[in-house]
Amino acid sequence: MKRLYIHIPFCASKCGYCAFYSIPAAGGEIIEKYLRRLCRELEKKSRTCGELESVYVGGGTPSFLAAEDIERIFTALKANFSLSNNCEISIECNPETLNDEKISVLSRSVNRVSFGVQSFNERFRKILGRKGSPENLYTALELFRKNGLENFSCDLIHGIPGQTTEDYAGDLEKFLQFNCKHLSSYSLTFEEASRMSKENIITPDPETEMEMWRKNDEILSIAKIKRYEVSNFAAEGSECVHNLEIWFGDRYLGIGPSASSFDGKNRWTEKAGLEEWLNEEEPDRDIIPAERRAAEILAFGLRTLKPWTNEKFRERSGFYFQQWEKALCELEREGLITMSNGLLESTMKGLIFWNNIAEKIIN
Ligand code: SF4
Repeated sequence: MKRLYIHIPFCASKCGYCAFYSIPAAGGEIIEKYLRRLCRELEKKSRTCGELESVYVGGGTPSFLAAEDIERIFTALKANFSLSNNCEISIECNPETLNDEKISVLSRSVNRVSFGVQSFNERFRKILGRKGSPENLYTALELFRKNGLENFSCDLIHGIPGQTTEDYAGDLEKFLQFNCKHLSSYSLTFEEASRMSKENIITPDPETEMEMWRKNDEILSIAKIKRYEVSNFAAEGSECVHNLEIWFGDRYLGIGPSASSFDGKNRWTEKAGLEEWLNEEEPDRDIIPAERRAAEILAFGLRTLKPWTNEKFRERSGFYFQQWEKALCELEREGLITMSNGLLESTMKGLIFWNNIAEKIIN
């Protein structure tokens, strides 16, 4: 495995829509226990990896940790793994949890920062239960840039209750002012266990949702930022290599509660509970026949606008596309994919109706 994901499950507080595994406002003792096991895991599991080509530190809110704790993780990472010269090292940060000290540690440790913004509009930030303000992003970016970092992404959410397409367009325009080269734009979904799922909340209708989805392409193209996955946009060369390769079925190791790993055949997911993870409980294993796994890999690559080649698919899955010829021809007739010159790729319509692609290929 040459890709590593580290899950940091701590957050300052719980957002209203979130059902990810995360622990709000954890104290020092819990964090210390987590860090000890994490460092042990980094040492133990490094043997299963070759030289790393990408590392992604996600959460939770990794930037909730203190500067010295963040430093400890990257010291353990660098002591146990060898990193390729151009290894992409990403971390997720919520701007309001950053300070000078953390930014200084991160500037020495990573080369890509993904900011959880969700909305620049105070009204919608409040509905989502987000802390901080857009000024925090401005300050953080300024400091990172002073330290020589330039590779930034922001997360935005659309489809927030009461939000109009114009409101969302305002968020996109604000995003462009920050001159970041990557955006992840997600449609608001309330996970079952989240606070908002229990409230009587009306979200925008499906047509408005679709208008917002398309607004991304319209506004971001002004800055030559293009969609390359259902929810992800980048200027040329600024795509997230880690996620892109994983969508194309690459192997990866995940460390931390609720982190998944994939060794080319099987996937396993660590228990989504800190206690269970600290007690080293066995992960949940997703063992399925090779052909079904290959079908999943094929379908997930088609979440992007990058093409599959047969060689790449064979290398990642052990199969050729021809195995799914009937399904692929049907999808091509429906205008969801194209196949020409040995390249298989999704169309924009394919991204909108990706569930149909997945259903046809996987089932
Ligand atoms: S949305 Fe992000 S910051 Fe908010 S509770 Fe969930 S993991 Fe934490």
